[in-house]
Amino acid sequence: VSGRELYDVAGIGAGPFNLSLAALLHPYPSIRSAFFDRAPEFRWHAGMLLRDATVQVSFLKDLVTPVDPTSRFSFLNYLRCEKRFYRFLTAGFDFVPRLEFDHYYRWVAARLPSVHFGLGVREVSCDGSQFIITTARGECAARNVVLGTGLAPAVPTCALPHLGAHVFHSSRYLARPHRFAGLRVAVVGGGQSGAEIVRDLLDHPSGRPAELSWISHSLSFLPLDDSPFANEWFLPAYAGHFATLSDTRRRALLREQHLASNGISLHLLQEIYRRLYTLEVLEDGRRACALLPLNRLETITRSGETFELGLVDADRNERRCVAADVVILCTGFRYTFPECLIPLRFDIAWSEDGFQVRDDYSIVWNGPEACRIFVQNAAHVARGIADPNLSLMAWRSARILNAIAGRSVYDIDGEDAAITWPAEQALEEQR
Ligand SMILES: Cc1cc2nc3c(=O)[nH]c(=O)nc-3n(C[C@H](O)[C@H](O)[C@H](O)COP(=O)(O)OP(=O)(O)OC[C@H]3O[C@@H](n4cnc5c(N)ncnc54)[C@H](O)[C@@H]3O)c2cc1C
Repeated sequence: VSGRELYDVAGIGAGPFNLSLAALLHPYPSIRSAFFDRAPEFRWHAGMLLRDATVQVSFLKDLVTPVDPTSRFSFLNYLRCEKRFYRFLTAGFDFVPRLEFDHYYRWVAARLPSVHFGLGVREVSCDGSQFIITTARGECAARNVVLGTGLAPAVPTCALPHLGAHVFHSSRYLARPHRFAGLRVAVVGGGQSGAEIVRDLLDHPSGRPAELSWISHSLSFLPLDDSPFANEWFLPAYAGHFATLSDTRRRALLREQHLASNGISLHLLQEIYRRLYTLEVLEDGRRACALLPLNRLETITRSGETFELGLVDADRNERRCVAADVVILCTGFRYTFPECLIPLRFDIAWSEDGFQVRDDYSIVWNGPEACRIFVQNAAHVARGIADPNLSLMAWRSARILNAIAGRSVYDIDGEDAAITWPAEQALEEQR
């Protein structure tokens, strides 16, 4: 980044979502773009890059294929260029290892000259006709900004005072080598991350914890709903329909659809169940893991080196206490207002639901019309269940790119779906 270079697009953050946009922009150099990421290099959620973790969507839902299967940045082209196409196919993965997608994303990032790592964006301001992006290496200007800064760990309030080496969020699980052997470990959260960590702890290289508790406020440890009609919620048509609904209806739907995004991969549940059977019935004959569904974490108190977790049982409304040396919070993520946007804070429409997001993923703000801010992964309540998911990644990037170009660079309209949602039907009738 030199001087005050002017870009058509400045991307803030280069996680998978903005990487997808950068890859789709690559064949169109007349749209000048630069993407900045503060991380020294691309790693896909490094703190949770467990050896056995798998991607929860088809590998065809890569950075580009859903909108441009001929792109050189497709997963299949990565396999071909890395000379492991046949080996990958022969391995016959039912679910692709997350490590493989991490490698693929890094392979793409390394081939995109527009993507700069080790360059955090400190500030975005607007001088009345363009955005000024400030990084550690100076300033550049841009007509459009695309935010792809990801989500922040959601930590229960009662855990905040205790965060540190012994109480930490799942996103830091692999951040430092940890010895769990002989310790009492509590895993809080009954979603995919909780399950992956419990699975890992049951055969941890440092030895198994002396006591392991898996706590969830859900009814039980429940599977991801990956069934065909639930998958229709991850199609472009549904995102469009969802956006037309009232606030109350959208919130209610997100609650009802919870398991289609936050459930645990069925194969992982089976693996945990079988491992517990082997350990508890055939090997040790003692509890390897105390499973505590229907328990809400209310308090954490510290006494010496021990953390006392105060839980409330939803069936009987009874309180119980679990003592732990290590507490791992698998309590999810949430969107927070990006710090670098603070200079524009009072010009941006922001509520507890986040930004006000238009159809083309630009947000409502008081700035000049020609200066647009687009968002990736920041419209969960507005656009629905697919927003944080990889399914619509390429489609949404193409939608943003088309809006920036002011023409249909990628033809993304009219994708077929099995269900015709009412908003689509209304559109068809108008045509
Ligand atoms: C462990 C895990 C596994 C997941 N697995 C799946 C899956 O299998 N299938 C699925 O559909 N979804 C999955 N998801 C959900 C989602 O697809 C991922 O979270 C995805 O990484 C989101 O991409 P992103 O680009 O929005 O954010 P991130 O991947 O979080 O990337 C954001 C980037 O922004 C950078 N950044 C932040 N602030 C700044 C700044 N001021 N300046 C410069 N850079 C900045 C960060 O360094 C980071 O690199 C998973 C999520 C997690 C946490």
